[in-house]
Amino acid sequence: MKRPNDLSNYWMPFTANRAFKEAPRFLESADGMYYRTSDGRQILDATSGLWCCNAGHNNPRIVSAIQEQAGRLDYAPPFQLAHEAAFELSSRLTAMAPAGFSQIFYSNSGSEAVDTALKIALGYHRVRGEGSRTRLIGRERGYHGVGFGGTSVGGIVGNRKMFGHLLAGVDHIRHTYQPTLGRFIKGMPEHGADLADDLQRLVDLHDASTIAAIIVEPIACSTGVLIPPQGYLERLREIATKHGILLIFDEVITAFGRVGAPFASTRFGVTPDIITIAKGVTNGAVPMGGALVRSEIYEAIVGATAKGGIEFAHGYTYSAHPLACAAALATLDVYEEHKLFERSRSLEPLWQEALHRLRDKRHVTDLRSFGLIGAIELESREGKPGARGYEFFLRCFEKNVLVRNTGDIVALSPPLIIEEEQIDHIMTVASDVLEEMA
Ligand code: PLP
Repeated sequence: MKRPNDLSNYWMPFTANRAFKEAPRFLESADGMYYRTSDGRQILDATSGLWCCNAGHNNPRIVSAIQEQAGRLDYAPPFQLAHEAAFELSSRLTAMAPAGFSQIFYSNSGSEAVDTALKIALGYHRVRGEGSRTRLIGRERGYHGVGFGGTSVGGIVGNRKMFGHLLAGVDHIRHTYQPTLGRFIKGMPEHGADLADDLQRLVDLHDASTIAAIIVEPIACSTGVLIPPQGYLERLREIATKHGILLIFDEVITAFGRVGAPFASTRFGVTPDIITIAKGVTNGAVPMGGALVRSEIYEAIVGATAKGGIEFAHGYTYSAHPLACAAALATLDVYEEHKLFERSRSLEPLWQEALHRLRDKRHVTDLRSFGLIGAIELESREGKPGARGYEFFLRCFEKNVLVRNTGDIVALSPPLIIEEEQIDHIMTVASDVLEEMA
């Protein structure tokens, strides 16, 4: 294996650093559905990179938009100055969003999008004279990135335990996975809408006057693909509205065609107050995130400051970075021209059937799917949680297919350009690995 450098200085994120550096995996280039490794292998990408390259890799239109932009305007300060593409992109993104959304606040990542959304929620209540609403509610097994806000409302113990008390006052509702009531469910479970009543329970415990917002992923992806029960999101919306609590959908993964629609909010027909995005907005090619916000929230916050004053003390050096805006505009063109959201929707039944072929394979305890997302849950080895999932990932990589494991759950989320034979190939490799693996 060609080693470009000493490997010891790069502290890799969410990586088994020592194991990786003993047997590294280098990606060198990419095209369409495939990565190419430094040892010359073509790897079929069943994870869209990290849930982000929805239009496949190195799309020529996106590549040339970034190149062209880099040669014209490399950087523009976003505080008290702007460039045109930032406004064009904002118009296009808000036009795609559910009715009532008129604003987007840009960040550089999903984590920052989440922290931005939480701050907007706190600011909104404060300017309306409800400054006692400071409590943020998350959900067990939620993943909202790695900022202190996102980690606090997040519900994955491994991501939280090292970092002290996190934000004060945060509470969590229960997650929605109930395997004792059913496994191998295709699509949305029929049971579990009542779990949304946990929000009412927290209102009864803390009082609505202390609660600013609740944040959930419409589908909890990073924790292992938990599909919302039928009626659950509607009920959450209802309870939040009843008590004046803002509902934030974290759509960092579920937006931009992953579930066959611009947003999961659109697909599920449930409209939150703030939607966070990242990943697919630029097809992963340049970092970008954002919080889409309903008009009345923006109006309340900007209206609270006299004209000429800065209304919201928040922002990033790289908010609406010109390269990110160029990448995003080109990405939206590609999604539209190739009808990729519709394509994702039309592939969904086939994807689901192909995934469920693994039902009787060794080690498989559950399969879940929605949109072009799939999860294979494996039985944990005794005393070694995560070991089987990690081995599954390594073995698939050896067989030239990229999957992602979180513990013993394997998540699949291919680019929306995937072909039928490639779906078939992913499941065949998965099936072979399950047979071979102890
Ligand atoms: N929110 C959700 C739902 C995510 O899935 C992720 C990343 O996977 C994030 C936030 C964090 O995004 P980033 O890694 O860009 O900070």
